[in-house]
Amino acid sequence: MRTIGVVGLGNMGRGMALSLRRGGFEVIGYDPASTACAALEADGITVAGTPASLWRECDAVVLSLPTPEVVEAVLLGADGPLHGAKTDLLIVDTSTSHPDVTRRIAAALEPAGLDLIDAPVSGGPKGAHAATLTMVLGGSDAAVARAEPVLAAMSATRVHVGGVGAGHVTKLANNLLCAAHLITAAEAVRMALDAGVEPARLLAGINAGSGRSGVTQVNFPTWVLNGAFDSGFTMKLMRKDVRLAGELIAALDLDLPLSAQAARLWRDSAEIADDADFNAIVKLQLA
Ligand code: NAD
Repeated sequence: MRTIGVVGLGNMGRGMALSLRRGGFEVIGYDPASTACAALEADGITVAGTPASLWRECDAVVLSLPTPEVVEAVLLGADGPLHGAKTDLLIVDTSTSHPDVTRRIAAALEPAGLDLIDAPVSGGPKGAHAATLTMVLGGSDAAVARAEPVLAAMSATRVHVGGVGAGHVTKLANNLLCAAHLITAAEAVRMALDAGVEPARLLAGINAGSGRSGVTQVNFPTWVLNGAFDSGFTMKLMRKDVRLAGELIAALDLDLPLSAQAARLWRDSAEIADDADFNAIVKLQLA
């Protein structure tokens, strides 16, 4: 692996491109948004005018795209790798996407000898820049082993959870929990405030006990209690992830009442703008 493409140069893709270069790879980026391209070119990374050259010139291409619909259009559309790609091209989808879409795309790419692994991430833009992301991986043992040097340049922790799509199942489960925990933690803080307990002290107590979560240990101290709300992950993207989890639950014909209520609260929180930080969901209780 020598030359790596990055498709989608937003909050996450930009940091990944810089980390890959620091890891010793030649990096070529692509994004239809000129501002995203200009930012990366200012850092000395080549940006292509279309994705077509990335499939032909790169040994692996990393995707960091907003939705499953965009991932599908990029990989199976007219400018996609089925219309000309380097032999043995490996595609690494780090987007948070729908596992059924991922599996469908992988099946369409396979006859052309193109491997896809899903490698969705946690750790935010900071983790992407510092190469400290956590990845949950879906793919064959052989494809994951082949991807290892590329993944290692972007992440500190990697957990291989199953075949293609398993990474996206795991990521949707993770984000569904995070989305629900933000609401339940905000409700607990509301209760404690009204009962006369100060939030920072409440959280110190909870974080020493069994009710703690990533939200009480990381989100509240880092982005909520100090009013920063600057994690780099938007309401729009978390709404998308909760919607995708809901679609997966529906496709599996499951009745999961707490997940359904969390999904409703996220969907109906129209008073919080799409471009607000995702932690702003706590304002349902802590405005
Ligand atoms: P972003 O909106 O900042 O970036 C997405 C980029 O994709 C944009 O620059 C956009 O122009 C580009 N894009 C759109 N259509 C494209 C196309 N057809 N071809 C190429 N590029 C295209 O989003 P982000 O915050 O970087 O998130 C990217 C993915 O990572 C999402 O799936 C998100 O859910 C996931 N994610 C984000 C975070 C975070 O903290 N931001 C954390 C974990 C996972």
